[in-house]
Amino acid sequence: MSPINLAIVGVGKIVRDQHLPSIAKNANFKLVATASRHGTVEGVNSYTTIEAMLDAEPSIDAVSLCMPPQYRYEAAYKALVAGKHVFLEKPPGATLSEVADLEALANKQGASLFASWHSRYAPAVEAAKAFLASTTIKSVHVIWKEDVRHWHPNQDWIWQAGGLGVFDPGINALSIVTHILPRPVFITGAVLEFPENRDAPIAADIHFRDADGLPVHAEFDWRQTGKQSWDIVAETAAGQMVLSEGGAKLSIDGRLTFAEPEQEYPSLYRRFAEIIKAGKSDVDVAPLRHVADAFMLGKRKFVEAFHD
Ligand code: NAP
Repeated sequence: MSPINLAIVGVGKIVRDQHLPSIAKNANFKLVATASRHGTVEGVNSYTTIEAMLDAEPSIDAVSLCMPPQYRYEAAYKALVAGKHVFLEKPPGATLSEVADLEALANKQGASLFASWHSRYAPAVEAAKAFLASTTIKSVHVIWKEDVRHWHPNQDWIWQAGGLGVFDPGINALSIVTHILPRPVFITGAVLEFPENRDAPIAADIHFRDADGLPVHAEFDWRQTGKQSWDIVAETAAGQMVLSEGGAKLSIDGRLTFAEPEQEYPSLYRRFAEIIKAGKSDVDVAPLRHVADAFMLGKRKFVEAFHD
């Protein structure tokens, strides 16, 4: 089968760090064009707008949309109307409604829409899911604490409405939690801390439960210096499970039971090729719905101003 002609929109940090190397190693895809106001990729036709790119490059089969979430819907809409398959970086959009609209449009157009959640493809996530399915879970504690100055320097969009603030990394934890727990959970209370000069939270403390009352507590904080934490700890009848380093390692009662090299983005592109071949979409909005619920139900606390 000939490769899927792929274009990238929004050439920035994640494209350079992850998309380009993963696409280069996947024979199912051939990168043929980019659309970005400033960014370009050597050896590939570059355009500054998606409209110009779609007009000039009719051979494009699929597009990966990697700009900030607030600007993704319009590009996705144009690509789907043109009959292209669409890969959405996480989070899939700025609102639930726009993602629902894109899903309906993809179905109508016979195109594949992929709401990607890279953390779900972290190495030890499936092993954690299998472990939790084999036992009784008593409680879950999610600790996602990192230094925003280190990971998101000069990213103004992330602090603007729709940029999600600390939920930009926190939604990665939620994408794992919603995948590995056997039953859906829902938020019962939350406190969101907003710097007084920003429109998005710098920290969030969230309590969930499931239908049986399983307590799940998530702490997201962007003010963590020193050791960074991306851990999910579950107390279970079979011992304490720690899924650490963003889903890379699994330990049971302190004994490392699973660790393999990270393959998140190569796995995302394998999945994208698979759904295109199967003629279907893969759009799970559960992580984004929890973020929306936290904004809906959470108390707001204003904290000191944040400066880069
Ligand atoms: P970024 O580098 O700040 O932005 C990506 C590109 O989007 C920019 O280089 C810019 O390209 C374009 N862009 C920025 N503002 C725009 C606007 N107002 N309108 C249209 N285009 C705009 O961000 P990133 O870190 O790559 O993140 C992009 C997405 O990937 C986010 O949803 C993020 O959550 C996700 N992601 C990021 C990481 C990470 O480690 N950074 C990891 C996983 C997922 P031009 O100026 O050339 O148009």
